[in-house]
Amino acid sequence: MRYPPGARRVERPASAKPCATCGELTGRGYPNCLRCAEVVDELWLADWLDLLTTERVSAGTEGERELADRVLSEPPGTFPWTCTDWALRLLRCTECGGELGAGDPVCLECAAADASRWEWDDAAVPARMTQPEHAIRHAVTTLRAPHRHRAAVVSTWRLALPFLLAGDDVPAADLRHVRHAVLAGRYPDLAEQDTVVDLVNLRLLPWPSRVS
Ligand SMILES: [Zn+2]
Ligand SMILES: [Zn+2]
Repeated sequence: MRYPPGARRVERPASAKPCATCGELTGRGYPNCLRCAEVVDELWLADWLDLLTTERVSAGTEGERELADRVLSEPPGTFPWTCTDWALRLLRCTECGGELGAGDPVCLECAAADASRWEWDDAAVPARMTQPEHAIRHAVTTLRAPHRHRAAVVSTWRLALPFLLAGDDVPAADLRHVRHAVLAGRYPDLAEQDTVVDLVNLRLLPWPSRVS
């Protein structure tokens, strides 16, 4: 099957809940909070471990590295998108030494690896990949390489990730609204919203009243 689905092996939480380790909504501490990282990465890892089983390859071996190479050299849609991402994580960029596709912002090899990652989504949304799956991939890719993105974009994905993790959709227009609120200095208020509806509807007004 071309474009096999990704991130559907693990049951999602019904709603965004605080992380027992960092106290923020689960996912928001990604990737520095170990618990947030575990919950998020589980979606990717389940697909990768399934691929290892199918290919009779053991984790942590040279065979796993070779499999990662092969996943990236096949045409997009041969493996789940989650496996493409995991393969990138397992490999180092030969030019900048960073995680492949997530290294130095000016590294051409990373730029090429990151661009080819998105060919999957271009062909697969919405038939083989849902919009929320595309969004969660964007969120996690951005949070893994914050130095490659503008700060407001990173913050926006950080705010959205717990809700995406719970299966909520956060359409582009809503993400734009959140980004504008971040740029207006409202991150602390945004981070206090417990539901995606509250997050995307946070009113930019009223401004704190000025004493004249
Ligand atoms: Zn956490
Ligand atoms: Zn690089």
